[in-house]
Amino acid sequence: MKYQIGLFVTILVIIWSCSGKGEKEVENHWPHAGITYEIFIQSFYDSDGDGIGDFNGVIKKLDHVKELGANAIWFMPIMPSPTYHKYDVTDYKDVHPDYGTMDDFKRLLEEAHKRDIKIVIDLIINHTSTEHPWFQESQKSRDNPYRDYYVWAQKDTIADFINKKTITLDSDNIRQWHDPGFGEDYYYGFFWGGMPDLNFDNPKVREEIYEIGRFWLEDIGVDGFRLDAAKHIFPDDRPEDNHAFWKEFRDRMTAIKPDIYLVGEVYDRKEVVAPYLPGLPALFNFDFHYTLIEAYQKEDGMLLAKKQKEVLDFYLDITKDFIDATFSSNHDQPRLLNSLDENPRKLKQAINILMTMPGAPYLYYGEEIGMLGQKPDEHIREPFLWDIRANDRGRTTWIEPKYSIDETVTPLAIQKSMSTSYFNHYKDIIKLRNSNRALALGNLELYEGELAQPLMAYFRNHKHQEVFVAHNLSDVTHRLEIPEDYNHVIYKYGSPELEGTTVILPAYASIVIEKLD
Ligand code: CA
Repeated sequence: MKYQIGLFVTILVIIWSCSGKGEKEVENHWPHAGITYEIFIQSFYDSDGDGIGDFNGVIKKLDHVKELGANAIWFMPIMPSPTYHKYDVTDYKDVHPDYGTMDDFKRLLEEAHKRDIKIVIDLIINHTSTEHPWFQESQKSRDNPYRDYYVWAQKDTIADFINKKTITLDSDNIRQWHDPGFGEDYYYGFFWGGMPDLNFDNPKVREEIYEIGRFWLEDIGVDGFRLDAAKHIFPDDRPEDNHAFWKEFRDRMTAIKPDIYLVGEVYDRKEVVAPYLPGLPALFNFDFHYTLIEAYQKEDGMLLAKKQKEVLDFYLDITKDFIDATFSSNHDQPRLLNSLDENPRKLKQAINILMTMPGAPYLYYGEEIGMLGQKPDEHIREPFLWDIRANDRGRTTWIEPKYSIDETVTPLAIQKSMSTSYFNHYKDIIKLRNSNRALALGNLELYEGELAQPLMAYFRNHKHQEVFVAHNLSDVTHRLEIPEDYNHVIYKYGSPELEGTTVILPAYASIVIEKLD
């Protein structure tokens, strides 16, 4: 009997391999090359009718995340906080009551893990809320035991700084020293007065933070952290101290959970980002995001391919142990569709680019149904549209949306039955990536032949598998020549054609061609 089953399996394998077009298995390449879906719970799915999204709502929609093809979820802050965005924490060992209870969250973890979906939470340790008990104590007096949890300075020693306004990449015009309204002392808050910076020169503060990390990893069971504002732990003129801190943080967290996943937000160019790699093995690739948009603005395809090659080579020179967290958009940028002139073909192609380039791509909730949004931030974080308004029991109502409404965005339930919808497009290209090792894991080689400016062309190679990828970032048809052994088209978008060794790419078309021996 054993022999018969063995024979049967062998025959099946032969049939499959002879067909050539046999459907390849979907694989999970997280964290190195898998896909993470960013969720703002507030706007996701409201399970109890109070207008605010919640943990139980996310549980209901885990199958959506699974269907999309994502391998992990990054939750924006879930801890108690006085603001809607929750980037100013008042209690590091609890969850926001609007989102549910800790038991609800644990159930969510369990349900996600059942579906092989990892959970990464935002951990905001650069600063707390002014309402955090530590700060409440700290501001009481100079000899309070919590005084040195924050950074205080006397008015006369910081006179020059008090009125100075600094413009940085990730903040608007900000006064970094704040007057609590009594005494002579000011406290430091890089982002705004409601977010006083913790004092990481104080070893007690560092121990508190490591204990918080332990709590979420060991007692609760999350898979990792997204580290907000990672380059602001120490002031800008102390980058080495920042790098050393994250190395220490990683060592301490790894001792608790050896396979912990850490992704850092270092909002800067590659030269500034790279020295963080020993502490933060995954880092968001902001260069990728901005160059993607620039490539469309300039209709210059190779601009992005070259930039990505340059960034990868630069990092690889420093360490092989890194995860390139590419992303299409996130909660801090205008919605991708807005950045691409609200052109559906550009959005679909942009996601083709993201999914056929190296990296571990992040998607931002709602992108997969073409949600719209512009600053201020609340309006790039609008309610997800699950169904038409009359039928949408989970749609959140905590904010009046300005950009993503039934009149401008087709809700998910409708998109599911449309073959050309954003949702089905996302699903297809993600599936292609997850079932094709060259696309997920392969290296990047740029096309060296002659190329019209709007074309982007590159090779992805992994072991014996080699694929060629091309996109036309303009609305005019262009052609290019490829080596003759690339002849198996495995993906088409926008009606491209392969005629002999000529690839014909109409407006905003993409093609993926596998080399067959
Ligand atoms: Ca709710």
